[in-house]
Amino acid sequence: MNKLYLFAFCLIFQFSCSAPPLSGEGQRITYEKVVLVSEAKPKNVILLIGDGMGLTHVTAGSIVKKTPLALENFRHIGLVKTYSTKLITDSAAGATAMATGKKTYNGAISMDIHQEKLKTILEYAEDNNWLTGVVTTSTVTHATPACFYGHQPTRSNVNRALAAEFLTKDIEVLMGGGWNYFKDGPDGRDLIEEAVAKGYFVTDTIVEGDQYLPERMICLISPMLPPRLAERGDFLPLATKKSIDILSHNNSSFFLVGESAQIDWGGHENKSDYIVEEMLDFDRSIQIALDFAKKDGNTLVVVTADHETGGYSINQGDLKDGSIETGFTTDYHTASMVPVFAYGPGAESFAGIMDNTEIFYKLKYLMNL
Ligand SMILES: [Zn+2]
Repeated sequence: MNKLYLFAFCLIFQFSCSAPPLSGEGQRITYEKVVLVSEAKPKNVILLIGDGMGLTHVTAGSIVKKTPLALENFRHIGLVKTYSTKLITDSAAGATAMATGKKTYNGAISMDIHQEKLKTILEYAEDNNWLTGVVTTSTVTHATPACFYGHQPTRSNVNRALAAEFLTKDIEVLMGGGWNYFKDGPDGRDLIEEAVAKGYFVTDTIVEGDQYLPERMICLISPMLPPRLAERGDFLPLATKKSIDILSHNNSSFFLVGESAQIDWGGHENKSDYIVEEMLDFDRSIQIALDFAKKDGNTLVVVTADHETGGYSINQGDLKDGSIETGFTTDYHTASMVPVFAYGPGAESFAGIMDNTEIFYKLKYLMNL
C-alpha cells in the first residue's frame, strides 16, 4: 500500500444500466467498481479536459516543444477507460460520465439512458456554495462544457436551449465561443441582456494584464465556433488565468472546468500540426493552473481527456529538430484509454487504471460534496 494513503477507502458502487433507449434492445449490464481515494480535502479543484487527447497527442506535443511539458510536472498519473453504452464514445457521453458518474448513450448531455437528468459535479459544487466556472475553446454550449451545467436528451440543435439553461444557474464564469446563441433569438429573448441583468460582466474579448475582476463574467469570443490558434491567440491561457483570478479572489472554494476542444478537431481532420498547436496551447493553460496550485497549496488540478481521436501515431521523427511523421487510423474517436494527470491534495487518488465515471466519484468524495 502506498504510504501516501493515510487512509484508503474502498467504496463499492453498484450500478445497473441497460442499453440506450434509442437502440431498442433492453440488455441489462451490472458492474461493480472500486474507487480508491485519499482523505485529502482540497479547497479548490481545477478539472482540465483535452478533448480527443490520447497519449500520442501528449507525446507529439512533448517532441515538438523540445522542452518538458507542464504535464511532465505531474507525479500521479493514471489511465481512463472511455467507453459509453457503445465501445466508442462521443464527447457528450464522455463528459456526462466524468460530470455525473453515469454511463450514457452517445449524444446525451448529462441525461441517463432513460433520458432523466443527472446531477453534475458542478451542480453539487454550486449547491455547496463553491464558486464555479466553465472555459472552452469550442462554443460554451458544445457537448463537453454543456455536460457540466446542462441537461438535454441530444447534443444537436440545442445551443439556444443550453444558453438559456446556463442562465438558470449561478455559475460565476463562462468563457468560449457562441455569442450568437445568447443574442436575440427566435424565442424573443436577448440572453446577453438577461445575463447583464443577472449581474454578469459580458464581453467578447479577453485582454492580458486586465486587472478588472467582476464577480461574474461571460466572455464569448466568437459568434459561433472559435477559430484556430492563429486567429484566437492566447485565449485559453488568458481565460484560464482570468477565471482563476475571479474565482479565487474572495477566498471561497472554487471548481473550474476548462476544455481544450480543438485537439479533437485536429484529430478529426487528421492534421498533426493542428493537434500539436492545440496541445501546446492546452499545455500553457495547464501551466497556469499548476502555477496557481503550487502557490495556493490547497488546489487539486486534474487533467484528462474524454476519448482519443484519430488513432493517432508517431511513426518517424527527430528529437533534435522536434519533427514528427505521423499517421491516423480513423477520422473519428477510438476506444484507446486516455491519460489522467493529477497534482495537489488528493492527487494520489488518480493513479491506476479507472473508468471515466470514477473521475466523478473521486472528485465528489475529495470535494466533500
Ligand atoms: Zn470528436
